Amino acid sequence: MQPTSGIDLAGKRVLVAGLGKSGRSAIRFCQAQGALACLSDSGPATPEASAWLEEMGVKYEFDGHRDRFCHAVDLILLSPGVPHDLPVWERAKDKAIPVLGELALAPRYLRTPVIAVTGTNGKTTVTTLIGDLLKGAGKEVFVGGNIGTPLTDYLMTGQTAEWLVLEVSSFQLDAAGDFRPEIGLLLNISPDHLDRYPSYEDYALAKFKLFARQRMRDVSIINRDDPDTRRLFTEAKGIRPGWEPRRCLSFGALRQPGEDGAEIRDETVRLTGGWLAGPEEIYDLRGTRLASSPNRENAAAALLAARAAGCQAEGLRPGLVDFRPLAHRMTEVAEIGGVRYIDDSKATNIGAVAAALAALPGPVVLIAGGRDKGGDYQLLASQVRAKVKALLLIGEARERMATALKGLTRLEALDSLAQAVAKAHELARPGEVVLLSPACSSFDMFSGYAERGELFARLVLGLKA
Ligand code: ADP
Repeated sequence: MQPTSGIDLAGKRVLVAGLGKSGRSAIRFCQAQGALACLSDSGPATPEASAWLEEMGVKYEFDGHRDRFCHAVDLILLSPGVPHDLPVWERAKDKAIPVLGELALAPRYLRTPVIAVTGTNGKTTVTTLIGDLLKGAGKEVFVGGNIGTPLTDYLMTGQTAEWLVLEVSSFQLDAAGDFRPEIGLLLNISPDHLDRYPSYEDYALAKFKLFARQRMRDVSIINRDDPDTRRLFTEAKGIRPGWEPRRCLSFGALRQPGEDGAEIRDETVRLTGGWLAGPEEIYDLRGTRLASSPNRENAAAALLAARAAGCQAEGLRPGLVDFRPLAHRMTEVAEIGGVRYIDDSKATNIGAVAAALAALPGPVVLIAGGRDKGGDYQLLASQVRAKVKALLLIGEARERMATALKGLTRLEALDSLAQAVAKAHELARPGEVVLLSPACSSFDMFSGYAERGELFARLVLGLKA
């Protein structure tokens, strides 16, 4: 249970930044708490948005965040999609105006314990799976945060769930105030969003803030095979005496003596350690959609969270068996002439592409590229050399990627996804895989990863005709 502390909205002037689903929910919540909400959005006004704001009695500005408007408040509440590092927010902080996100509301207003999931990759998958496991085990659960439903929506309900499962991004953690999850999961850290952080270390530390306010009775779950996660956890124990959650559980293939948690062996997950009532628990993933990497790791993390949340071991099987991987994450679109076509459009960073290549035997025709996020594509060099028979590059990042990966495999720059799919079809032989796993965001050519993946699927299905 969260203590009654943190930000009190009553009587405050609150600027909500960003009028998406979260922004609207935040405005409603602020008003319900007796705050005076106003709205600033960097995009253009629409008649519908203006009408809604007027009906709500909310002052607003569109087409940018202006100091005069944004700084005439007591508190700024950023919607999850709004960049947290804009100069206008920095200047607000200089004027002692707190700049926070919705997670910072939890300490005062949330009465349900939280399982929070962060990491560079796998957040949505693990958050969804934890929700499914808990529901399958008979718990009442609300799943939200960065996925779908804003936290403020839940805060306005009767808060009847036994657990709240939240997907949490590094940007949200940067603005999380005193937020403290009872169970926190850090799945992995690899370079991402380097266009928005001064350095990789800054990005990694932002993820690590998930654990910063945890107390003795809380649980931290980390990936012990991930060197940065492990290093930061060890360093943090030394840096902050008094901060050491009593229960640190870890998951991975390797296990040192004394490490409690989950061990992944072939297609099973074994939970071990004194925190369990009985001896080792074995979960067989065969026959589920979680049997191969990286979903085995995701399953291990989710099982730890579910057991730590008090689910009985016997109750977890339905959630594992019924789980269906989410769209655009290693989704097989078709097999044509013995070639498997896989849509991994959600792989918008290098770590996700590395996980995809690790999961495939090869040879792979890899379609990659899009909007560059400042990552080091050379991190993929050894896998490209070993498994990628041809690398087909599209989008704004194609030159940077070509420079980083030239000489390792056949490499071609193409002007569109349609051209890349046609070329891949020409090059792939039976038994091989065509993989869309871009390592970049999609915003140079598409409205989002889903549109990119859907076009890929249509193009592939068109090859059959
Ligand atoms: P996120 O919400 O963190 O973006 P998703 O579950 O949406 O995570 O998956 C994003 C991408 O990462 C997909 O390409 C998916 O195949 C890949 N992925 C999923 N789980 C992992 C993991 N544990 N490690 C590395 N990559 C993963």
